[in-house]
Amino acid sequence: MIQLEGVNKHFGHLHVLKEINLTVKSGEKLVVIGPSGSGKSTLIRCMNLLEKPSSGKVTVDGVEITAHKAQVAKVRQSVAMVFQQFNLYPHKTVLENLTLAPMLIKGVPKEEAMETGMAYLNRVGLKEKAGVYPSQLSGGQQQRVAIARALAMRPKIMLFDEPTSALDPEMIQEVLDVMIDLAHEGITMVVVTHEMGFAKTVADRVIFMDEGQIMESNSPDQFFANPTHERTKSFLSRII
Ligand code: ADP
Ligand code: MG
Repeated sequence: MIQLEGVNKHFGHLHVLKEINLTVKSGEKLVVIGPSGSGKSTLIRCMNLLEKPSSGKVTVDGVEITAHKAQVAKVRQSVAMVFQQFNLYPHKTVLENLTLAPMLIKGVPKEEAMETGMAYLNRVGLKEKAGVYPSQLSGGQQQRVAIARALAMRPKIMLFDEPTSALDPEMIQEVLDVMIDLAHEGITMVVVTHEMGFAKTVADRVIFMDEGQIMESNSPDQFFANPTHERTKSFLSRII
């Protein structure tokens, strides 16, 4: 579903991604961990062209998105992203947050967009909040809306960039529960997170990034029981 081949990313003199090769299968749940600044966000942002690699090739669902003529808008329809800072439209109601992109980008009729929007709000347990504004919601609720909004585009791939890092501790589980529920559905998921419980229960594979490279890649069982690299071990000892 996602393939990165020899991907490099430079920001000025900073070499942030170094010859990354990575394949994510259809339906796979991949968890990405690693220290701050190691390139995790840049890596997943290259999967929907929020960042363009300096070199190398990214293929999503059979389409080379790094090709010259790739259509960014099209790519983003099938690859949705959920951010640490929710990024909801503050002047739109919750339901409008869900209907906007399907109507504008996909041309879905309003009635249908609203119906689908309500169905996804129901799924994240927030149907009764359809008419309120994001500022009237808790952080956990806002993030659940952000997930519902991403789902409303019916993407094939969901990218999550530390979706619970900005939340108060008591709100983390409600967001993880929505993600766990989603994981059971067969959608392809790439999740940057430091929630190791989530990684252990949901991930098919965990990769550890350090200084722009994938240092380790393994099933969660192996990854946590037998980390092979010193850096993985010391990272795990600091966060678990
Ligand atoms: P992580 O998500 O693992 O914390 P990032 O991918 O955000 O790491 O960042 C990797 C490195 O690239 C960091 O040194 C960061 O400061 C730098 N970086 C990220 N985005 C930009 C940017 N738009 N411009 C310049 N430097 C950036
Ligand atoms: Mg990051």
